[in-house]
Amino acid sequence: MSSITKNLQHVQHQIAASAERARRAPSSIQLLAVSKTFGEDAVREAVQAGQFAFGENYLQEALEKIAALKSPAPAARLEWHFIGPIQSNKTRPIAEQFDWVHSVDREKIARRLSEQRPAELGPLNVCLQVNISGEASKSGLTPQELPEVAAQVAQLPHIRLRGLMAIPEPTEDVARQHQAFAAVRALYESLRAGGLALDTLSMGMSADLEAAVAEGATIVRIGSAIFGARNYT
Ligand SMILES: *Cc1c(COP(=O)(O)O)cnc(C)c1O
Repeated sequence: MSSITKNLQHVQHQIAASAERARRAPSSIQLLAVSKTFGEDAVREAVQAGQFAFGENYLQEALEKIAALKSPAPAARLEWHFIGPIQSNKTRPIAEQFDWVHSVDREKIARRLSEQRPAELGPLNVCLQVNISGEASKSGLTPQELPEVAAQVAQLPHIRLRGLMAIPEPTEDVARQHQAFAAVRALYESLRAGGLALDTLSMGMSADLEAAVAEGATIVRIGSAIFGARNYT
């Protein structure tokens, strides 16, 4: 068995065990395999092992992979999620090639994605990224900005606002992991209470998956635990 296949099984077990501890149905948590920096062969291996949803951060790299994996036929079922920073002049290929975008952090980006989404593809699934740890350097909407932007984005015709995405400040302190994810969950619940039909909490990575599942994640974004350590050189 390849190491990617083994790693995928291990991560699926981790998700199921975390779900059970949280008294949640394992099927309520989707695994997004983050394939950034890894080539099409690694993605193919994951597909062979039954993984169909992939997350990418870097547009050019992602577009090459998407094109390479368009054929043969089984790849038609692949689902591509854009999870990286978005420049406003680069929205068109994202609107045309992806099924989901997790990293929308301003109304302008959402408006462009909606305008550029080909109608025949159906609405683009969007999460708003929130900056939950308040780090000046990280992208994401502040909790204060979120309600107004969410209300605006929910009105756009070719976008379906699904929920929130967050990347809390990395910490090995499990209590702090829980605290950050619970704060994202509270923002999500308050938007829902305000009438938005949201169903997605995109949170949790290789190092903090368990806490994210315990606090209600519906999509976990896992890279290195599946594909190994990334090499950026
Ligand atoms: C790289 C990345 C991940 C995956 O991180 P790992 O620690 O490798 O699991 C998840 N989400 C985002 C937004 C990322 O950029």
